[in-house]
Amino acid sequence: MKDDCIFCKLAGHVFETNIIYEDDDFTVILDANPATRGHALILPKEHYADLYEIPDELLKKAASLAKKIVSELTEKLGADGYNIVQNNGEKAGQTVFHFHIHLIPRYENDGQLIGWKPGKPGDDELKALADKIRL
Ligand code: AMP
Ligand code: ZN
Repeated sequence: MKDDCIFCKLAGHVFETNIIYEDDDFTVILDANPATRGHALILPKEHYADLYEIPDELLKKAASLAKKIVSELTEKLGADGYNIVQNNGEKAGQTVFHFHIHLIPRYENDGQLIGWKPGKPGDDELKALADKIRL
């Protein structure tokens, strides 16, 4: 556990929070400032700052857990869909530097904006970029 990390403390029961699921690897809590009703956070119990740090095996478990929770809560909450959001780095909107996955239920007319302004690059520009970054 990292001493100055709020999510380590929430995942490890040092501070009280609203836990909706728990297993050996993860604690899932309700976000204190939810985008919508039922907005939850998957927190690994071990501290990893972000996607760059979390081991692949644990990440795979987190993805399976996201699927399980979304599948079960869609009906329980009466949601119409879900956004899965995972921020890495301050410029990408990360504010708590302990890896987490946002599970955000969506409802008709929920008034939330989770997205981006679509760009309009030219075909050549896109092709040049693809050529440059292809793995
Ligand atoms: P991010 O911006 O991706 O780092 O997300 C951090 C999220 O953690 C935000 O949605 C916050 O509302 C949420 N959050 C911060 N502190 C707490 C807390 N003590 N309990 C529950 N959620 C929290
Ligand atoms: Zn932590």
